[in-house]
Amino acid sequence: MSKSYVIGFPRIGEQRELKKVLENYWSKNCSFEEVEKEAKALRKRHWKYQKDAGIKYISSNDFSFYDNVLDTCILLNAIPKRFKNLKDEELYFSMARGNKNSVAMEMTKWFNTNYHYIVPEISLEDDYKLNASKIINEYKEAKELGIKTKINLIGPITFLGLSKRVDRKDTYELHSKILPIYEELLKEISKLDEELIVQIDEPIFVKDNEEKVLSLIKPSYDKLANVSKNIKIVVATYFEHSNEATKVLVNTPIFGLALDFLYGKKNLNILELIANSDKKLIAGVVDGRNIWKNDIKKSLALLDEISKKVEKENILVSSSCSLLHTPFTLRYEDKLDKEIKSWLSYAEEKLDEIHLLSKLFFQGKSSLNEIEAKDLEKNIEANNNRKTSPLIHDEKVKQKVETFTKFSREKSFEQRIKIQKELLKYEDLATTTIGSFPQTAEVRKARRDFKNKEISKEEYEKQMKQYIDECIAFQEECELEVLVHGEPERNDMVEYFGEQLNGFAFSQNAWVQSYGSRCVKPPFIYGDISRPKAMTVDWITYAQSKTNKIMKGMLTGPVTILNWSFVRDDKARDEVSKQIAVALSDEIDDLQKSGIKIIQVDEAAFKEGYPLREENIKAYESWATRDFKISVSSAYPETQIHTHMCYSEFNDIIKTIEAMDADVISIETARSGNELLKIFKEVGYKQEVGPGVYDIHSPRIPSVEELKIQIKLLLEVLPKEQLWINPDCGLKTRKWEEVIPSLKNMVQAVKEIREEI
Ligand code: GLN
Ligand code: ZN
Repeated sequence: MSKSYVIGFPRIGEQRELKKVLENYWSKNCSFEEVEKEAKALRKRHWKYQKDAGIKYISSNDFSFYDNVLDTCILLNAIPKRFKNLKDEELYFSMARGNKNSVAMEMTKWFNTNYHYIVPEISLEDDYKLNASKIINEYKEAKELGIKTKINLIGPITFLGLSKRVDRKDTYELHSKILPIYEELLKEISKLDEELIVQIDEPIFVKDNEEKVLSLIKPSYDKLANVSKNIKIVVATYFEHSNEATKVLVNTPIFGLALDFLYGKKNLNILELIANSDKKLIAGVVDGRNIWKNDIKKSLALLDEISKKVEKENILVSSSCSLLHTPFTLRYEDKLDKEIKSWLSYAEEKLDEIHLLSKLFFQGKSSLNEIEAKDLEKNIEANNNRKTSPLIHDEKVKQKVETFTKFSREKSFEQRIKIQKELLKYEDLATTTIGSFPQTAEVRKARRDFKNKEISKEEYEKQMKQYIDECIAFQEECELEVLVHGEPERNDMVEYFGEQLNGFAFSQNAWVQSYGSRCVKPPFIYGDISRPKAMTVDWITYAQSKTNKIMKGMLTGPVTILNWSFVRDDKARDEVSKQIAVALSDEIDDLQKSGIKIIQVDEAAFKEGYPLREENIKAYESWATRDFKISVSSAYPETQIHTHMCYSEFNDIIKTIEAMDADVISIETARSGNELLKIFKEVGYKQEVGPGVYDIHSPRIPSVEELKIQIKLLLEVLPKEQLWINPDCGLKTRKWEEVIPSLKNMVQAVKEIREEI
C-alpha cells in the first residue's frame, strides 16, 4: 500500500489559468460562472496529477479563488462590518480587494514565504457561524471523480494567531468563540463518509509561542479529535520545527503529525516522543519551497534515520509543506539549459519523487517498475552531476570569496560623513527619490521589443537614454537635490542583476502565487556567482554626464537578491549571499571610479528574510549584515552609501540596521507619521535617515501643506542635519501625472520649512 502524502497542491494553474480567468472576471470580461468552471477544471486536473503519480493522500480544500485564510474567514463568518451587506463572490472579492465604499482587508506574508494571506479582522462582537459549503462541495466533487481526499483546514490557533482584533487586543481571547465552529464543522464533515482524514494546518506552532498560546493546544485538539470517531486528524506544521506543540499533541487523541524535516531539522530531536505515542508521522522530506530535484539517496537516509526511532509502519512520506510555493511543471520549460533543467523538479515532478521515495523506503528497490527504476537512475545521475558540474562550480569564485577580507569600510561613519558633507554639499533636509520613475507603456514596450530582438541594441539604448534625459530634466526643473536615472532598463530589481551575473538562470514558466491572482517568477541561483562585467556603470555614468547635480547609482543588495530568488540547496544561504556581496563590491568600485559619488544599495527584503525562530536570528543578522557590509566595503570614505528598506517597523532590528553602517537609509514611514521613527532617536541612531514623507502606493497627490506637517513631525524626532526628504519607495508603479505634482509639492514643502526653521 502506498504511503505517500502531499500537504497541498498549487492552484493557480500550470498556465496561470486561474489568474487569467479571475482577472477577466474582475475587469468584467466574463461571468463568475466561467471562473467557477475554470476552477473546477483545475481542481480536477490537479487531483488527477496526484492520483496518477500514485499519491495516496491527496487534499481537497487546498484550492482557493484567492486565499485559504480568506476562505477560513468565510467558513467562520468572520466578516468585517464594512462588508456585511454583501454576499457570495461579491463579498469574497470585496474582502480581498476592496470596493468603491470599503478598503480591502490587509494582506501580509505567510510566515517566511513570499505568499501573502488576507489578515482576518476579528472582534468579540462578531457572530461566528459555520459556512461549510466550500469544504463539503470540494470533497464531494473529488469523490465523484473517484478520489477520496483528505480535507485541509487552517487550524483555529493559527487562524487566531494570524488575525488582528479590531480593538487591537489579544486575538486568542476569541478562542472560545471560534473553537465551537470548528467542532460543528467536523460534525458536518463526519457525515460525508465512513472514514475521513482532516489535515489541520497549524504553522503558527513553529514560532516561539508564549505559554498562553501553547496552553490552547491540548484543550483544542482534545475536543476536535473527539468530535467524531470516523475522523482522523492530522496536525500539520512546516517551515520550522514545532517541538513545543508536538510535546502536547502526542497526548491528544489526534491521528498523526505532519512535520517538516527539511526546514525544521530539530523535529528529529523529538522522534522518541512520537514513537512512544500512537501517532502516525507524516515525514516532510521533499522540499515544498524550492525547485531542486530531490536527492533521493539523501532523503532515504533521512527516512532511515527517522525510522530508527519511529516504527516504519507509522511513517508516511510527504512534501515538507504545501507545494503551493513551487511552480507547476517542467513540461513547458523548453528554453532552459538542458543540464540545469535536469537538476530541477517542480510540483508535478515532486509528486513522482514522493511516490518513488515512498516505494523505495517501504518496499525496497526491487519493487520499482521499469519507469521508476529509470527515474531513480536519472535522479542519482543528476545529483552526482550537480556535485561537479563546471556550470555550478567555479574555483576562481570560491577562492576569491573565501579569501575576501574587507569586511567594512575604511573610516568610521563620523569621519566619513564629515568628508561627504564637505564634498557633496547637500543641504539639511536634502531631497531625493528612491530610484525608479514611472514605467510607462513605452518603456516596457521598448524593453520587451529589445528582448524579443524586434529592435536593435542602438534603438533600445536610444529610447532608454531619452527616458533618462526626461527624468533628469524633470528632476532638475523640480529642483530635487540628489537625482536618479529612473531605472527604465530594469524590469525587476532582482531580475536585472540576476540576468547579468553568472550563476543565475531564468525560467519561462516557474510562476508561483504571491497573492490573489498575482504570481512571481523568481530567478534561480544554481551556481557560483560572479560578475563578468559592470552591470550599471554605463547607464549611471550616462545619466551623470547629463547633469551637474549628483546622480545616485542604484544597486540591489545581496540579501534582497537572495531572498527573492530560488536559492541553490547545495550551499549554505549565507555563502551564496557572500558571493553576491563580493560581486557587488566590484560594481561599487567601478561606479565610484567612474565618478559616481552616491550609491544606493537597496535591501527591500532584508526584514522578510528574518528566521521564524528567535534562536536563529542572531546568525541571520550576523551574515546578512556582514554581506551588506562586504558589498559596500569597496566604497571610499568620500562615496556616500545609501540603503533603502520598504517598511518602517525597525523596533526589533534597529541595532542591526545601524550596524549595516550605511551613511543614509531611506524607509517607508508616511502612513505612520513619526511614530515608527522614534526608535531611531531612542537608540541614538547615528547615521542619516530619509523617512518617506508620502505614500507611493496610492495615486493621491499630497499637498504642500500636508507634506509640511509630515516633515515637521519628523523634525520633532530627529534633527534636520540627520534627515533626508524622499517618498516612501520607488515610483515605478505610479503615473507621471501623479509623480510630477507630488514631487514638486515635496520640494516646495522642504523650501518653506527651511525658511521657517
Ligand atoms: N530602487 C528601487 C525602486 O525605486 C527600490 C524598490 C523597492 O524598494 N522595492 O524601484
Ligand atoms: Zn521600497
